[in-house]
Amino acid sequence: MPKPLNTEEQGRTARVLDHPVRVIKGVGLKVAKALESKGFSTVGDLLFNLPLGYLDRRGGHRISELSAGKYASFRAEALDYREVRYGRRKVFHAVFADETGRVLAKWFRFGRWLKERFAPGKTYLVSGKPVLFSGVLELHHPEVEPADQEAEGRILPRYPEVSGIAAGTFRRIMEEVVAAIVPLIPETIPRKVLDHLGLKGLRESFRETHFPTAEPPDDVLSHPFIKRLIFEELFFLELALAMSRREIKSHPGFTVLKDDKFLARVGRLLPFRLTGAQKRVMREIAGDLASSSPMNRLLQGDVGSGKTVCALLCALMVINAGKTAVLMAPTEVLAFQHFYNIGPLAEELNIPLVLLTSSIPRAEKHEALGTLAEEKPALAVGTHALIQDRVSFGSLGLVVIDEQHRFGVLQRARLRLKGRERPDDPAPHVLVMTATPIPRTLAMTLYGDLDLSVIDELPPGRLPVETTILPPARRREAYELMSRELARKKRSYVVYPLVEGSEKLEMKDVTSMAEELARIFPQTEVGVLHGRLDAREKRRVMEMLRSGRVGILVATTVVEVGLDVPEATVMLIEHPERFGLAQLHQLRGRVGRAKDPSHCVLIHDGRGDAAQRLSIFASTTDGFVLAEEDLKIRGPGELAGIRQHGALDMKLSILLRDVSLLKTARRAAMALVEKDPGLEKPAHRHIREILKKKTEEKLQIMHTA
Ligand code: ADP
Ligand code: MG
Repeated sequence: MPKPLNTEEQGRTARVLDHPVRVIKGVGLKVAKALESKGFSTVGDLLFNLPLGYLDRRGGHRISELSAGKYASFRAEALDYREVRYGRRKVFHAVFADETGRVLAKWFRFGRWLKERFAPGKTYLVSGKPVLFSGVLELHHPEVEPADQEAEGRILPRYPEVSGIAAGTFRRIMEEVVAAIVPLIPETIPRKVLDHLGLKGLRESFRETHFPTAEPPDDVLSHPFIKRLIFEELFFLELALAMSRREIKSHPGFTVLKDDKFLARVGRLLPFRLTGAQKRVMREIAGDLASSSPMNRLLQGDVGSGKTVCALLCALMVINAGKTAVLMAPTEVLAFQHFYNIGPLAEELNIPLVLLTSSIPRAEKHEALGTLAEEKPALAVGTHALIQDRVSFGSLGLVVIDEQHRFGVLQRARLRLKGRERPDDPAPHVLVMTATPIPRTLAMTLYGDLDLSVIDELPPGRLPVETTILPPARRREAYELMSRELARKKRSYVVYPLVEGSEKLEMKDVTSMAEELARIFPQTEVGVLHGRLDAREKRRVMEMLRSGRVGILVATTVVEVGLDVPEATVMLIEHPERFGLAQLHQLRGRVGRAKDPSHCVLIHDGRGDAAQRLSIFASTTDGFVLAEEDLKIRGPGELAGIRQHGALDMKLSILLRDVSLLKTARRAAMALVEKDPGLEKPAHRHIREILKKKTEEKLQIMHTA
């Protein structure tokens, strides 16, 4: 048992997990690069990369015991190995034998390193999952290492593959990390609390998770050491939320009293009456605004449920009370749309309306910044450009974030600091909106510092969008549908998936598709929209679509979120297999936004991995059902908008199965914050350090515009 560190040592070692992977003995430039490309840039990343499973090499299996699909590890002699040609492909074969039998191993991808690994007659440790191939068991891409004392007689971790690094090498790196780094890691949770919660120590947990001394249970949930590591992540997440909750409450807010006369006037200017759900949400918002602490609310409502008007009314209330309101959208296209939709109303009410995105002309930007810096109230619409450092606000009263799931998780904190020159200035109200139906447990975690409002009712008269999966050979039918809709003055979207790293190609796809469609549909103009267009062109295309001059819009996923053209009735999706359910749901949400029957057509041959997902999608328009399915398929990280490598995802999925661990973490975090609100006591200083670092990471905003 190492002796406890004193405070100064703790401060120093708090960042031990942040050391770059290069400090590890045996990790040179090349290996470091390979690790970094997989998202492992610090030793902490490596330590939180949980094994997929373990290889039990204490006893070793026999070849005669192998059975299909069951992971096994055995000691065997390499009898024969060579390259075998199958037409133009080369496959590497190796035959292994022990006294109980022999088995063939195959590599379909291999390099010289593989051949060099073998020497005739030598003994190897072979591990892998046998498959049945024409009735015979064989191994594909097994792990093969020379049998030596070191690897044998132990339980070894099995990690997700990192290309460019052999499994054995990766394991040796981990061994080095565990040996050299883990002893330096300070315990974050007091022993007494750990005992009380029945949790293991941190160092011990890292060690036993990566190199167990006893056979670990199959189920991660009953693995006490992994449980501690998951707890560690949850604890810091909850701690961040608890601190932020406390922080918000400690600031004075800006009180907006309800002005019924003003609201009635605005109500008369709206083209429709609010639904019951929208009215309820407005009451909740008005309650927040009227209180003395800042609003911090999440507004959740399925696509097309009418969140924008709630945000707008909220903004107008704040402006009417003399403060500036900001509406932040995740894409430029969406910002333009809000700008145009709000324009007439703002004019009618005599409110200065400002547009700010990164690509608007310099002069316009300059003017916008000037208006925002004034103390007079204004309404600002834009992208994340709105919260960049250069922007300063004369009197910021409200920040609305549309489509929250497209932004990073904890960057709200940064927003809250915006517009406050002095620490005792009132903090702006914050309203975040999302169409992602987040399961409750997850919402409680990720948005635990927010109050929740839900719009659970669609505006009247909406028809469910009819969804069809059409094989490419029957594409004509989709065109006929589009043609009929054009004749009724309706519009269609044709969407292509965004393929990372091949933007040029994709632009070509979109452009050449538009040219072809222009030939097929001489009765209308065909517009093109993608992220690379400049702001002016984007605006022009959007306007033409809105006015009906453009009847067909060919686009990349820039149209995915928020776009609202009520006359659009057809959404044609090319390569739907490349989209997740949540994305498809968003895309489909672009049509059926008024009373006309609308259609979503997926061009797909019904084969392959995606077929099932697409048929689930076609069978329901319920966002909650799709979110649950998405959760099963992709894991919660994606769903919640946290794009990180596997570890957190895995923790979150475990969390969904085991809410009690989350609750424990939450209680421990709240207790700590209650006892030491600023985490200023010497014993908590290293916790504050770690928290600070984690929060900084998560404050990074995803740039999607
Ligand atoms: P989302 O919640 O997806 O952001 P929007 O706010 O864009 O949805 O609203 C979708 C469409 O429904 C818009 O065209 C909007 O004008 C319209 N809408 C919103 N509320 C109502 C309502 N109460 N009655 C009729 N139409 C409405
Ligand atoms: Mg919207």
